[in-house]
Amino acid sequence: MQTVQADITTLALDAIVNAANSSLLGGGGVDGAIHRAAGPGLIEACRSLGGCAVGDAKLTRGFLLRAKFVIHTVGPVWRGGTQNEAGLLASCYRSALELAATHHLRSIAFPGISTGVYGYPPELAAAIAVETVTAALQRHAGIEGVIFCCFSASALQRYQKLLEGS
Ligand code: ADP
Repeated sequence: MQTVQADITTLALDAIVNAANSSLLGGGGVDGAIHRAAGPGLIEACRSLGGCAVGDAKLTRGFLLRAKFVIHTVGPVWRGGTQNEAGLLASCYRSALELAATHHLRSIAFPGISTGVYGYPPELAAAIAVETVTAALQRHAGIEGVIFCCFSASALQRYQKLLEGS
């Protein structure tokens, strides 16, 4: 596991993960950036998927992105922590890695799912991300590289601390 501060759309990996909404028909934040960079082929592909449940993940090609594939997952909206947000967020990371393993993808980058407009406290979200990915990688030996792609310097610091401690 590594961390990097970057725009996730610039990463040349087998897959990047999109923090989408359940319609999969585009939104703001990282979703908007991924759709802009991938071009109109991505929204076409997403239309045929019929949406995605919170905690679940679906795969498309990467179209004009440097990444070969996009794994779309839908994080929970933070509602104070009593609505199984932690379980659903962990499920996003697990589902995305399962899908990657099924398709023999070896390198994958995650944004901070739910930590933008969905309001998940970044500190809690990062801990769940690192813990869940660490556990899942034990089951998926084919996945060689997981990158936590941080948009801000503060997010980068947060992940670096967690990774040092893991
Ligand atoms: P959500 O709706 O799941 O909260 P957002 O897209 O609003 O999703 O934000 C998720 C995280 O992605 C935030 O931490 C935000 O700073 C980050 N982010 C936004 N744009 C990009 C990008 N181009 N590359 C990487 N991370 C991004």
